[in-house]
Amino acid sequence: MGRVSERATSVVWFREDLRVADNPALHEAVRRGDPIVCLYVLDDESPGIRPIGGAARWWLHHSLEALGERLREVGLTLTLRRGPAREVVQSVVDEVGATRVLWNRRYGEIERGIDGDLKAGLRKAGLEVESFQGSLIAEPWTVLTGQGGWYKVFTPFYRAVLAKQTPRHPLPAPTKDDGLHHREVRSDALGDWALLPTKPDWAGGLRERWRPGEAGAAERMETFLTERVSHYVAEQDLPGEEGTSMLSPHLRWGEISPFQFWHALDGHRARASKDAEGAAAVLRQLIWREFSYHLLYHLPSITTENMRSEFDRFPWAELTDAELQQWQQGETGIPLVDAGMRELWQTGVMHNRVRMVVASFLVKNLRVDWRVGEAWFWDTLVDADPAANALNWQWVAGSGPDAAPYFRIFNPELQASKFDKHGSYVNRYVPEAGTPAYPEPMVDLKESRRAALDAYATVR
Ligand code: FAD
Repeated sequence: MGRVSERATSVVWFREDLRVADNPALHEAVRRGDPIVCLYVLDDESPGIRPIGGAARWWLHHSLEALGERLREVGLTLTLRRGPAREVVQSVVDEVGATRVLWNRRYGEIERGIDGDLKAGLRKAGLEVESFQGSLIAEPWTVLTGQGGWYKVFTPFYRAVLAKQTPRHPLPAPTKDDGLHHREVRSDALGDWALLPTKPDWAGGLRERWRPGEAGAAERMETFLTERVSHYVAEQDLPGEEGTSMLSPHLRWGEISPFQFWHALDGHRARASKDAEGAAAVLRQLIWREFSYHLLYHLPSITTENMRSEFDRFPWAELTDAELQQWQQGETGIPLVDAGMRELWQTGVMHNRVRMVVASFLVKNLRVDWRVGEAWFWDTLVDADPAANALNWQWVAGSGPDAAPYFRIFNPELQASKFDKHGSYVNRYVPEAGTPAYPEPMVDLKESRRAALDAYATVR
């Protein structure tokens, strides 16, 4: 199709920012006042792009549905296209004769390559292209050590982020009264992307637990601030309680921005001093998210390579498919591990404390390469995030930055007695634990711990 425009048109390319409020790219398009094309591209074809997993596809479907509705409320339309992003964005630009392309930045190496190429090509063709800071409070190149390097350890990174200027305040969402115009352009039908599972439909537990989209995110944040942040410090490690924000999938898909969450927490702690400690503790977790992107940006190989090279020689064990399935399906015979793996399968998330326990069990007691576990999480988490998932797996494995020392091997029984004292979490997911219907442990915890330490001694 050739160019048809007589007037300026903005394309806003949505990526991991599926929201209307505090969306700097959209905000800029609204400010310019020209007709707008709101575009989302499903790209599982560009070389090097890692296709999202099954649970994430379920989330994305509903999140796009919600974004489409939000945009309609303010007079805009969501255009959906599928294919390699570079070509698809270029083709939409050509079809509508766009004069301006706007997006919020991403931080993965492949994604930055795509964005950089597009920006250069479009600018060369005379278009205005602008990118914005929407998804991270501390962009990786803005937080540097005194020597100008990047941070490999969390605590100094955390302090450096806190020492920076207060993050900007969230931008308002556009409204119907802004008199916005959208440009009509062909869109795929969301249903044709077949993101939802059908045979079988395993998403019942996800539907029960989640409401993807901006409104669901705002509701979660509100509930957290009014009901839970005051108990956060006491309950954040208790998987049987709803003690944490549960915002991770909403943050992952950008249905809420870290700026919104930051200022909501900050405002809340100023108003409710009893909650100050809880709010500060959540901010610290939010900065772990920033840290994971800091590492992803400065060391892109973190998603696939051991950060500490001695782990390249580690004698990983090869499990049979059936043994690996025992871990994946929560049939290891270790109740806390099984509860976590079943929670993951049923709800698309797992409590952070239990993520550490199941990861330690896989990597240390079963001596399986962390990448095998990372891949399973990638497929089954609704919050599967390239940066946080890799960083945390490497942290537990001991191969990563600022990692738990290898000899710190979580004992799932002790963890259960400490953090699930009354067994409410285990009983919820593994009601048959302690009965003859429950399998024997697939490994002896003490022996497998010793074997793991022996294996580590060979590479130290
Ligand atoms: P809250 O305690 O309410 O924390 C607020 C926010 O801070 C979270 O929503 C999240 O965005 C961020 N955050 C908290 N802890 C971490 C952390 N350790 N690393 C990075 N960010 C953090 N988190 C993901 O978002 N995606 C993943 O793919 C992911 N994979 C993990 C894999 C393993 C092996 C482990 C041990 C942890 C992983 N985490 C991951 C981190 C953490 O488990 C989740 O972010 C947390 O459980 C989300 O719950 P919440 O939103 O209630 O967290």
